[in-house]
Amino acid sequence: MDEKIDYAELADLSPFELKNTLIDVAAKSIQKPMLNAGRGNPNFLATIPRRAFFRLGDFAMQEAENSWVYMPEGVGGFPQRDGIEARFDIFAHADRDDVGIKFLRSAVSYVRDHLGLAAGDFIYEMCEGILGCNYPVPDRMLTISEMIVNQYLRKEMIGNHAFRGEFDLFATEGGTAAMTYLFNSLRENYLLGPGDHIALGLPIFTPYIEIPKLNDYRLVTVPLQASEENRWQFPTSELDKLLDSKVKAFFLVNLSNPPSVRLSDDNLRRIENIVAKRPDLIILTDDVYGTFADNFTSLFAVCPRNTILVYSFSKYFGATGWRMGTIAINRDNVIDDMIQNLGADEKKELHDRYESIAPNPDSLRFIDRLVADSRTVALNHTAGLATPVQVQMVMFALFSLMDQPDAYKAAMKRLIHSRNEKLYNGFCGTPPFDEDSVDYYQLLDVEEIYRKEYGEEFAQWYVKSLKPNQALFRLADEAGVVLLPAEGFGTTRPAFRVSLANLTEVEYRKIGQAIDTIGREYYEEFSKSKPKK
Ligand SMILES: *Cc1c(COP(=O)(O)O)cnc(C)c1O
Repeated sequence: MDEKIDYAELADLSPFELKNTLIDVAAKSIQKPMLNAGRGNPNFLATIPRRAFFRLGDFAMQEAENSWVYMPEGVGGFPQRDGIEARFDIFAHADRDDVGIKFLRSAVSYVRDHLGLAAGDFIYEMCEGILGCNYPVPDRMLTISEMIVNQYLRKEMIGNHAFRGEFDLFATEGGTAAMTYLFNSLRENYLLGPGDHIALGLPIFTPYIEIPKLNDYRLVTVPLQASEENRWQFPTSELDKLLDSKVKAFFLVNLSNPPSVRLSDDNLRRIENIVAKRPDLIILTDDVYGTFADNFTSLFAVCPRNTILVYSFSKYFGATGWRMGTIAINRDNVIDDMIQNLGADEKKELHDRYESIAPNPDSLRFIDRLVADSRTVALNHTAGLATPVQVQMVMFALFSLMDQPDAYKAAMKRLIHSRNEKLYNGFCGTPPFDEDSVDYYQLLDVEEIYRKEYGEEFAQWYVKSLKPNQALFRLADEAGVVLLPAEGFGTTRPAFRVSLANLTEVEYRKIGQAIDTIGREYYEEFSKSKPKK
C-alpha cells in the first residue's frame, strides 16, 4: 500500500481533508467495518428536549388549525395570543405522563417562576417560532428565546464567577457561521486588516489556523503554544506575547480542540492581568466544549469587556444537523469603543455602509453590524436564524437550566470516560488523569506509547524511518481505523487525535488494539533492520 501514497503531497492538507483520503484507504481495508474516530460528530443526542420540541409542534398545529374556521384544503392561521396559556394547559393535561409534555409543563412554570416572564408570551413565541410563519424578529434573536439562552450561557460559561453586566446574543447557524461572521465583520469594521497580528492559542480547531491565511484576511498569526509537558496550559512566556501592542486579537478554543483541556485558573488569572495592561486586546473564545466540564469558567466571564464568546449546541446535545450556535457580546465592550475611535475616513465609509439600515449608523453596535453583515447589509431585514431552530435551542437551554443536579452532564462524562478507558485498555495503558481535561478528544502520542513498550532505541528508529502520517495510513489500511494527525491542529509533537464522541466502547478497544498491533509490527521491522551481532 505504501508505494501508492505520495506522503509529501498529503503533508499540506488540512487534517479534515486528509481524513477523506484515510477513509478511502480504510474502506478498502480487509477489516470491516471501518472504525472512523476522526469525526467530532457525537453518536449520542439529548432526547428529552427533542421530545418536548415535537410535542410542542403538535400543540402549535392545533393552534394554527383552530385559529380560523376549519379549512379542509389545509390552510391554517397564526396562533392567537389571547388565552393561549389556558389552551396549553388543556392540551398538556390530556397527556400528563408523556415525557415531552412533562418537560413542557415544567418549562412553562420555570419560565414563569424562575425567570419572571409571562407564561403566555413564552408559549406564544414558541408556537409562532416552531411553525416558522414569520421572519425572525428581532433578527438578532427572538426576544424570550434570547433571555432563556442568556440564562443558559450564564450557568454554563460564567457559573459562580463574579460577573457584572449584561450581554446580548446573536443566534447563528452553528459555531461555523459564528466564526465566518466574526472574521468578516472584524475586517469590514477595520478592527482586523491585512498584515495585522492575531495570536492563536495552539493547538486549535484547524479553521482558526487556515482562515487568517486566506486572501480575504491575510492576517499574521502569532502562535501561543500549549504543550503536553505543560498539561496543555500556556506557559507565562507564551501568554506574555499578548503584551505586545502589535497583537490586536487573541483567538482560542477553550476547552481546547483537540486536547480537550480547559484553561487553568492560573492561565485565566494571567490573561486577566494581561488584559488590564492591554485594554484594547480583542479576545475571541470558542467554548463549544465548555459544557462538558464541571464549573467551567470562560474568558468571557473573566474579561467580559474584551471577549467575544462563540458557543455551539452541536456537540453537547448531539445536534450538528440543527446548525445551532450563538455569539455573545457584553453590552459594555471595547469593540464598540474602538469603532467609535476609528479615523474619519473609515467612519465615513462605515456610515455609508450601514446608512440604509439604521437612522444613526455611527452608533450601530458591533453585534448589530454582525447581523447586518451576515446578510450583506442590504438583506438585513430578512436576517436571523430560522425560528424553529431557535425553539429547539430554547428547549436545549431549558433542559440544562432545569436539570438538577446536572444529571445529563454526569451521563455525558461517564459515557466519554468509559470509552477513553477502553481505548487505553486496548494497548494496555491507563488513561492519564487531569482535572482540567474532559477527554472529548484524546491525543495519543504513539511515539511515547511505543517508547514505554519497546524502549528508546526503537522510538528513535520509529521517528526517523517513518514519513509523516505513514502510521496513520497503516492503521487505515490494516485495521480500517481512521484517526487524524494532531500536527494540523498546531501541536509541537506528532500525535493521533482520537475522537471519543462517535463510536462504541468495543470499537474504542479495537482501536487501542490496532495501535498495539502496528507497534508490534514496526518493532519486528526494527529488529530485522538491526545488524546481527
Ligand atoms: C465542532 C466545532 C465547531 C463547529 O460547530 P458547529 O456548531 O457544528 O458549526 C466550532 N468550534 C469548535 C472548536 C468545534 O469543535
